[in-house]
Amino acid sequence: MQHLIRGRVLGFHADPAVTDDNHRYIEDGAILIEAGKIVAVGDYASLARPDLAETDHRPHLIMPGFIDTHIHFPQVQVIASWGAQLLDWLNTYTFPEESRFNQQGHAPAMADAFLNILTDHGTTTAVAFCSVHPESAEALFSAAHARNMAMVAGKVMMDRNAPPAVLDTAQQGYDDSKALINRWHGKGRQRYAITPRFAITSTPEQMAATGQLVREHPDCHVQTHLSENMDEIEFTLSLYPQARDYLDIYETYDLLSDKLLLGHSIHLRPREIARMAETGSRAVFCPTSNLFLGSGLFDEAGLRAAGVVSGVATDVGGGTSYSMLQTLNEGYKILQLRGQKLSALSAFHWMTRGNAVVLGMADEIGTLAPGSAADLVVLDSRATPAMRLRSDRAETLAEELFILQIMGDDRSIAQTYVAGRAMKA
Ligand SMILES: [Zn+2]
Repeated sequence: MQHLIRGRVLGFHADPAVTDDNHRYIEDGAILIEAGKIVAVGDYASLARPDLAETDHRPHLIMPGFIDTHIHFPQVQVIASWGAQLLDWLNTYTFPEESRFNQQGHAPAMADAFLNILTDHGTTTAVAFCSVHPESAEALFSAAHARNMAMVAGKVMMDRNAPPAVLDTAQQGYDDSKALINRWHGKGRQRYAITPRFAITSTPEQMAATGQLVREHPDCHVQTHLSENMDEIEFTLSLYPQARDYLDIYETYDLLSDKLLLGHSIHLRPREIARMAETGSRAVFCPTSNLFLGSGLFDEAGLRAAGVVSGVATDVGGGTSYSMLQTLNEGYKILQLRGQKLSALSAFHWMTRGNAVVLGMADEIGTLAPGSAADLVVLDSRATPAMRLRSDRAETLAEELFILQIMGDDRSIAQTYVAGRAMKA
């Protein structure tokens, strides 16, 4: 059955940093939906029919749902834990918390809560690290599949430098990942990401097993971490003394491609940047996490100039907000400290089509092109008294978007649609 959603409609078809012809905005617009997909987008008057069911979201803004390209599902109960930088943070908070995910019933309960929080914040697709336990990924995929929500996820592989309760072995990590790929990759909207946590927690044997999985499943994403923190880099290079640099470890095991998502990518050497550009490997900017853990300032313009394609992400629980609006708020400030500018149009492009391009999924999510999934967010730029006061003086779409980016959060999410279904009561 067809359904018409009415409001001010905004979608991107190109990167604002590349061309001025990048978006389409329709003041009295509508999106026609059928069977979870977008059928048509246009003026309300051209799409309205007496027989159509309608939902009127005026005066709100309707956009493609937000995409979060790096988040840790088992860290929902350690977000906002005090006082540590990366390696301490992992040992003190993260690993003990992740060890709970093989307890009966815990992962399914957390998976439901996690997906509800994502859609409450306007996020309709996420790329998620699960715990080492296959039941954590199983629970997340099951819950996402039941919602018809596109997730990219994988169980972390880690076989050293962490407590035994969160370790697998090279063989077990391979076997468990393989079984999850066979069960979930390509089932409905689910996709598997092969997930070596990072080089510190994987032996060379496990990295070799990872490379084998990648060769056997070249259409799976691969997600890991790269050069987030100076102590991390030093420890990593001590574990792989043959490596020319941090990226070279992943390169040695044939992980570099446009399917590889490298969380953080802050403290990079010129050779690493060049290889990322040559292989299409993606950098993923995690602003709130980089500030919270004191990790460093991402060089968006430098990577772009070198030809590296970057995503943007919350990195909860090192990140401090599930909101992609708040993520781009802090991202704006980090780039300010770098002497770089991020326009509101670029920010909203980045959290929608930009991240879809990063994932190679722009034909399914991130735009309003007919045939795309009807994954949508409805934004209220006057959600709070302070936002209303500010919005009274806003005259352009770019101004309104910037107010949402800087002042907005889950209170600005009036509705979220996943495959055409409204997720908020
Ligand atoms: Zn992370």
